[in-house]
Amino acid sequence: MDSVGVAAAAPDTGPGPAWQSKCPWGAPSTTSISCSLADVMSEQLAKELQLEEENAAFPEVVAAAEGPFITGENIDTSSDLMLAQMLQMEFDREYDAQLRREEKKINGDSKVSISFENYRKVHPYDSDSSEDEVDWQDTRHDPYRADKPTTTPRRGFIGKGKDITTKHDEVVCGRKNTARMENFAPEFQVGDGIGMDLKLSNQVFNALKQHAYSEERRSARLHEKKEHSTAEKAVDPKTRLLLYKMVNSGMLETITGCISTGKESVVFHAYGGNATEDKVIPPECAIKVFKTTLNEFKNRDKYIKDDYRFKDRFSKLNPRKIIRMWAEKEMHNLTRMHNAGIPCPQVVILKKHVLVMSFIGQDQVPAPKLKDVTLSSEDMKKAYYQILNMMQQLYRECNLVHADLSEYNMLWHDGKVWLIDVSQSVEPTHPHGLEFLFRDCRNVSQFFQKGGVAEALNERELFNAVSGLNITADNEVDFQAEIEALEKMNEDHVQNHGKKLSTFSSDGDPPIYDE
Ligand code: ADP
Ligand code: MN
Repeated sequence: MDSVGVAAAAPDTGPGPAWQSKCPWGAPSTTSISCSLADVMSEQLAKELQLEEENAAFPEVVAAAEGPFITGENIDTSSDLMLAQMLQMEFDREYDAQLRREEKKINGDSKVSISFENYRKVHPYDSDSSEDEVDWQDTRHDPYRADKPTTTPRRGFIGKGKDITTKHDEVVCGRKNTARMENFAPEFQVGDGIGMDLKLSNQVFNALKQHAYSEERRSARLHEKKEHSTAEKAVDPKTRLLLYKMVNSGMLETITGCISTGKESVVFHAYGGNATEDKVIPPECAIKVFKTTLNEFKNRDKYIKDDYRFKDRFSKLNPRKIIRMWAEKEMHNLTRMHNAGIPCPQVVILKKHVLVMSFIGQDQVPAPKLKDVTLSSEDMKKAYYQILNMMQQLYRECNLVHADLSEYNMLWHDGKVWLIDVSQSVEPTHPHGLEFLFRDCRNVSQFFQKGGVAEALNERELFNAVSGLNITADNEVDFQAEIEALEKMNEDHVQNHGKKLSTFSSDGDPPIYDE
């Protein structure tokens, strides 16, 4: 089980639509995740039940899967790969059965019959089913097939004396070449030549062979491309299976499409499915898929590596798990924010690197980003004060700094600003936390000053207003230097006391440790 399979609690209060008030998602306080004996037991039970269910649903598939894929008795049907292979096999068998039916229908009683052999998905050596083999042998009667090609034996010649025929004999070679065309891909049109006494010269055969193989490669490439474009960029098969399971389980009704493709994530819209005993699913959901292409995350190390909440785990993790941790971080941060009453998406569920949350917007149309919306000067002023307020709440109540706050990550919906995209948010005592906060303040100040809000504080005033610190430097460079000095003092404290300051003091003095 994922250590964080279920969204943490959400209180009855807080912003958002009416469905939230019915939300029965448990108690908010416990953040430590422990695994009780009961949990273990129930997980085992769940596995057993799942196995039973699957055995009932795919009895012959499971039996067949023992052949080429799995040896031994332990068939772990909880594996995604396994499930995919099972589904693929089932599909291939159905497809072949359909081919056989069509073949029969077309051929009927006719003396001339055609064969779809080359189009089959399941090949005899993949399968231990004798039924398939019988069908395969039917193709012996295909009249368009040349008789067994006359081949020359290994030593390269047959016959004796002047009747000797070598492997270079033109007629034999020509026939052999014609027969060999059968090996080209099924979609390669070779005409009826195979059934006739056609003799292809080596030169012609080689040219044809070259062409047939390059066609095969080209078609494979095209197919691959198509696969990728239809598979909604950056969603690999494993993720697709995860999404598929969410729909299959009824948690989501449908996944309608992609809202956004970013460097680090892809966001989809979905209609919520059925509520379960312990969960109310919002009518519309956003699914954030954290990209598992690792290179994009390399330069984000600094956010998470120094976040003490994740510090112990960071060193032990492989890159794939680190990406899951981003998703986990976003979930925890959103939960904190929601608990503080800050307008933000509400977490529905986290599965590996896929985070499902409530959708900000309506009828599949996401709320516009602040950068894309034109607000009246009144709304602009309202938005500014709301953000000032939210930044203070975030810092004081959630103990968080957004760390990527800008008009790109604020949505305008229902006459107010909603904060999103908090996977990189950190606590203020993070080694670079105050620098991140200063950057956030700069973005916000600049946006609203440019947007004509006369009351908007400058970035330094905003920083002090949010943090409660009283940095007096009146220029950017000195201000930044004081911020870094504070961060350093905090780090030294960690070095000397092995403990982090839980907050910075808010009276302008050097930070004091606050039990
Ligand atoms: P990224 O790291 O790619 O910037 P975001 O969390 O900012 O990820 O999401 C990208 C875009 O997807 C956002 O700008 C927004 O338009 C849309 N989006 C994300 N979450 C939601 C949501 N809960 N409701 C509506 N739209 C969302
Ligand atoms: Mn974003």
